[in-house]
Amino acid sequence: MDSASTIKILILDDDTFMLKLLSRMLAKLGYTAVTTCDNGSDALQKIDHIDTCPDLILLDLNMPDMDGIEFVRYLVDRQYHGQLILVSGEDERMLKTAEKLVHAHKIPMPGYVHKPVDPNKLSEILQRLEIEAAILPQSNDKTYSAADIRSAITHQELVNYYQPKVSVESGDVIGVETLVRWHHPQDGVIMPDRFIHVAEDNNLIDDLTRLVLKQAIIQAGKWHRDSQALRVSINVTMENLASLDFQDMVVNLVNENNLPPQKIVIEITESQVMGPDARIPLEILTRLRLKRFHLSIDDFGTGHSSLAQLRDIPFNELKIDQGFVHRAWQDDTLRAIYDASLAMGKQLGMDIVAEGVEDRDDWELVQQTGCDMAQGNFISRPLLPADLLRWMEEWHGRVRAEALIASPAS
Ligand code: C2E
Ligand code: MG
Ligand code: MG
Repeated sequence: MDSASTIKILILDDDTFMLKLLSRMLAKLGYTAVTTCDNGSDALQKIDHIDTCPDLILLDLNMPDMDGIEFVRYLVDRQYHGQLILVSGEDERMLKTAEKLVHAHKIPMPGYVHKPVDPNKLSEILQRLEIEAAILPQSNDKTYSAADIRSAITHQELVNYYQPKVSVESGDVIGVETLVRWHHPQDGVIMPDRFIHVAEDNNLIDDLTRLVLKQAIIQAGKWHRDSQALRVSINVTMENLASLDFQDMVVNLVNENNLPPQKIVIEITESQVMGPDARIPLEILTRLRLKRFHLSIDDFGTGHSSLAQLRDIPFNELKIDQGFVHRAWQDDTLRAIYDASLAMGKQLGMDIVAEGVEDRDDWELVQQTGCDMAQGNFISRPLLPADLLRWMEEWHGRVRAEALIASPAS
């Protein structure tokens, strides 16, 4: 495609040899609208002019005068709208920290590359950039109002998808997590991170959860009657646990659908568990547990008071956040956090689920470390109920064909 030649790229690096090398690599990949600067001040001048303002900056972190982090701050001041790729000889941890900072400033960053630069890696990141550029302009920056969400709830435009959770030891499908999507009449399928927080901030989360729960429990009842031994997990936020009605609603729904409470798992995001008054949530969760519902602590490791919550709430299940699972096999920091979460959960007698198992390497890590369950795109993306049975057959075939589990001792 000739879109490459139209992307304006600026390379900023104090090392002139690096500037030449990167320019040559980019030219080979078809990117010809490339300029270079060996210091931050010159680069900022280019950014200040419409004609020379780039669509993409390749930025070195470590420069003698203005370093990369300082440069990013000036980009933010100028409301730079392009994208950024970090190129650096610093270690993985440092690059990750810098990446987080860039994300926090809401500058799109398709990736980073280590020096010495591997042309294949650079090419891979640039492809991602083009794909994103093709997808993004449609409706991605559209925000939704409370009225939009209210209308989606009343018109039943919220649809439950279900993502499988499988046993790492046997490959059996243990359950599914309910993940809501909004089938928007104009904008297509909208993901939850674009509307859940709006619902939370506008007192709509109870209505939303009621709808999701109801659909999920009806679906769980169908699977149960079809003898599919699936546990169905549902995400619940702190706001849902502010009133004692919540527990009655869940208990009634389960009774109406003749479902054993053990089939329902309530997933609570840890940063949301502790409100200013934790007594009501605590009472609801304890009573649900007494009635044999399962309780799961979601996104473990990302909140602030996770250990206190483990102490106070009788969870059955701990989900290690995907941020500590994917690529933990090659990253010492992630691995340390993953191992510690796994060991602690086990010691407390909980089932451990690794989220974000995206590839075979992640799968092998969870297998080698004795994690109980895995969930992630390597196994399956979230599915509509109509696709789940077909997927199950495919999955059992894959488990055998790809030797995903240790074969039973003969
Ligand atoms: P979560 O509960 O931690 O759900 C897991 C998220 O990870 C889902 O995103 C899922 O699609 C995504 N995911 C699964 N496998 C992979 C993988 O291999 N790689 C990557 N990168 N991601 C993977 P989704 O569906 O966008 O949901 C985001 C969050 O929105 C959920 O995080 C949950 O906190 C919230 N959410 C979803 N549905 C509901 C709901 O009905 N009610 C509430 N209150 N929150 C919900
Ligand atoms: Mg969840
Ligand atoms: Mg999670």
